[in-house]
Amino acid sequence: MAVLQIRKYPDPVLRQKAQPVGDIDEALRRLIQDMAETMYAAPGIGLAAPQVGVPKQVIVVDISTQEQGHPLIALINPEILEAHGEVESQEGCLSLPEFTTTLRRAQQVLVRGLSPEGKPLELEATGLLAIALQHEIDHLQGTLILDRASLLSREFYKKRLKKLTSAG
Ligand SMILES: [Zn+2]
Repeated sequence: MAVLQIRKYPDPVLRQKAQPVGDIDEALRRLIQDMAETMYAAPGIGLAAPQVGVPKQVIVVDISTQEQGHPLIALINPEILEAHGEVESQEGCLSLPEFTTTLRRAQQVLVRGLSPEGKPLELEATGLLAIALQHEIDHLQGTLILDRASLLSREFYKKRLKKLTSAG
């Protein structure tokens, strides 16, 4: 296993629409393992393949550091079938260093996808797990929390980023 480099905004790969996975082979399973290791090393509670420069529909989520009793979830070609309710929380993103914003998401989602073994899975999630799944599935569409944030916090971050990059 290997820790991969996490792509940061404004890397264009973060804006690409991720492609559905056709063949689930050894290389894909290795990618999933590397993504999990990269997420744990960061540390973070979720990671989507475009964040490591691979525009494929693959996500990993593990919220066990925040809420006990949840295993690592790896999903291929995930899609949200149902979304209910509303919840507000603070979100950050490994591709957007030093940016957090309060966002509103569905409180409960039903997600369908394939396991790393290629088995169809349906997953009902609430609370933090539902939020993390929605965040990672957003990445597969090229959507970042920056796009969902208010105009004010978006402009503030872009200005700050400019300062940071010109300083270093
Ligand atoms: Zn993210």
